[in-house]
Amino acid sequence: MTTPDKYGFTTTILHSDRQKPIEHGALHKPIHTSVAFGYKDARELAAVFQGKQAGYRYGRQGNPTVSALEEKITRMEDGQGTLCFATGMAAIAAVVQSLLRAGDHVVSSAFLFGNTNSLWQTVAGQGATVSFVDATDVSHVEAALTPATRVVFVETIANPRTQVADLRRIGALCAARGILYVVDNTMTSPYLFRPKSVGASLVVNALTKSIGGHGNALGGSLTDTGLFDWTGYPNILENYKRAPAIQWGLAQIRAKALRDFGGSLGPEAAHHLAVGSETMALRLDRECANAMALARMLEADPRVAAVHYPGLASHPQHAIAGELFRAFGSLFSFELRDDVDCFDYLNRLKLAIPASNLGDTRTLVIPVAHTIFFEMGAERRASMGIAESLIRVSVGIEDTVDLVEDFRQALG
Ligand SMILES: *Cc1c(COP(=O)(O)O)cnc(C)c1O
Repeated sequence: MTTPDKYGFTTTILHSDRQKPIEHGALHKPIHTSVAFGYKDARELAAVFQGKQAGYRYGRQGNPTVSALEEKITRMEDGQGTLCFATGMAAIAAVVQSLLRAGDHVVSSAFLFGNTNSLWQTVAGQGATVSFVDATDVSHVEAALTPATRVVFVETIANPRTQVADLRRIGALCAARGILYVVDNTMTSPYLFRPKSVGASLVVNALTKSIGGHGNALGGSLTDTGLFDWTGYPNILENYKRAPAIQWGLAQIRAKALRDFGGSLGPEAAHHLAVGSETMALRLDRECANAMALARMLEADPRVAAVHYPGLASHPQHAIAGELFRAFGSLFSFELRDDVDCFDYLNRLKLAIPASNLGDTRTLVIPVAHTIFFEMGAERRASMGIAESLIRVSVGIEDTVDLVEDFRQALG
């Protein structure tokens, strides 16, 4: 359990590794590539395997370089513990693999990252049921709950259409019903928002995005905020109830998802992500300011049909986003008028790069319906509010004037 940090966000991340002695006084946690960890006394090895002694066993279940990153993320989220995974999707899949059984029910926001939407479709084919609701209003979530509902899943700001979930009231509902509240914080990042403040049980971060921040490593994490009472969760196996109840969830996730399914984060990626995270606040300050400037310029132009960005007064959840988040995020999407071809527009951009990542230092653009949301088909896209001409923009740290000029000249 971490104590509340007395320093600011960036100071805390920078000095997190030095809370413990690091080999040779190295300022960065070294990259430990060893897969196995040996013990002089075989009884110690047994004690580590039996959970009676702290220690590493085999790289799939834990690695010192990865643990150092997990501690950083725990501090960022003010949680009580974190597990890292090979990707953001592996972190979300870990919830499914370790905490859901056949017959369980999930209520998920309908406004989701495309691959998460696809994951829930897979789950629905494997014995659990999933209801998709408009999570911008808690009443839709409440109406979908059944006695079998184990998990409510939302994104803070939905990727790519930027709907903001009714985060606080869904948190209160889940707390009242004892339901696990899983919040994907990728689009806000712990710098802009801590889901613990609205009662989240588990926080998902795709480390690939704003936390790593440079598009050079994949990773994901699950943070237990410590708010959920695991004694009331029916799917915890007896094996994982030996420690205090606050640790049951992560103990079962470590065993069932990391050990059995094996979506573990490698130490080299953990190092890239940890170094990247040191500048998250600096990058996001610039990216959010750039996103606001671009969204305002595009909204004022008659050739643009719609701009979706929670920072704009025209956004339906502008007020609540302003209350909850430090800033409005580095991602927005927009629709061109029918007579402007979105491919022609993208090809006229000189700086922004057509590519499918987000949270990179470079500005990336993608025609959503033709790429990341292509597989699901037009009907499902329409139900998620995805227009055929929708362009998603992940705003980088380029100089503001250069970006605004690039997006303006491309309008033709
Ligand atoms: C990218 C993303 C993910 C998945 O992360 P990967 O590291 O690409 O697997 C999950 N949720 C959201 C909101 C994302 O943007």
